[in-house]
Order: sequence, then C-alpha cells, then structure tokens
Amino acid sequence: MSWERILQRKDFSNRPTFRTRIIRFRVRPESFCAMPRFRDLRGQEFGRLTAIKRVGKDAQKLSLWLFKCACGKRKTIRGTSVTSGRAKSCGCLHREIMPSVGKIHNTTHGRSRTPEWNIYFLAKRRCTNPKNRRFKDYGGRGILFRFKSFEQFFATLGP
Ligand SMILES: [Zn+2]
Repeated sequence: MSWERILQRKDFSNRPTFRTRIIRFRVRPESFCAMPRFRDLRGQEFGRLTAIKRVGKDAQKLSLWLFKCACGKRKTIRGTSVTSGRAKSCGCLHREIMPSVGKIHNTTHGRSRTPEWNIYFLAKRRCTNPKNRRFKDYGGRGILFRFKSFEQFFATLGP
C-alpha cells in the first residue's frame, strides 16, 4: 500500500469520529444540567421596568416575571420580552408616545379619512401638486389653496 493511500484512508476514517466527538460534546446531558433553568432578572432594570420576582411559566414554558413599572403599576410580563427590549414599560410608555405620533400624522382632529378630510386632501393636491391630473384646472390656473390646516378648512365649511 502506498503512503498516499494510507493517508487517504486515515483521513477518511478520522473525519467521522472527529465530528461525532463534537456532536457528543455539544449534546452532553451534563452541560444541560449545568445551565441555569432561567435567567435571574431579580432587581434588574429594563427601561421603566424593574423585575421583582419570577411568577412561573407561560404556555410556551417561558419564564414570567412580575415587574414594577416606574409609573407605579405592577405587571406580569414574559422575561424574554423584556430582555430583548420589546417591552420597556407596563404599557404607559406606549400610551404616552401614541398621542404625539397622532400629532405628527395630523390625525389629532380625529377626522382622517372622513368625507370632509378627503375633500380637503384632494382639493389641496389639485392646487399644490403639479403631478395631480387636475392640477392644470386649479393650481395651474393660479388657484391657491388658502387653508393652512384641515382644522381651518373644516371650521370654514362645517360638517
Ligand atoms: Zn407604567
């Protein structure tokens, strides 16, 4: 037998054992037992939440923790939701952010997508957007859109 062939055979016979060893090492039951069963979050802060105690598991066997929010409320939330950063408060943060989001999108009048709002929106486009197919009859002829806001338009026309 040539050396080359011996080396090839050795290589071939060695590889599977090497792999099995790695796999065996990875799934060794002791390593599972040594792992903590859940991450201890007690006393840790995540945004407005502070973990008080672990209260059990949910249907997916994920740890549920009782959190104290900076606003004073207490809430049970899945530990992973908080550690991943998805949950930052009992819900108060979301409630505080939402009204400002409404302001940005100009929906504070609560009349978005109503007939009046559509008229306002379409009229504004006709007068101000040259890409609008009716712009030539409105903005193109020098018709200006005089309303500064929907509120002003609505107050003038009424419902
Ligand atoms: Zn809160």
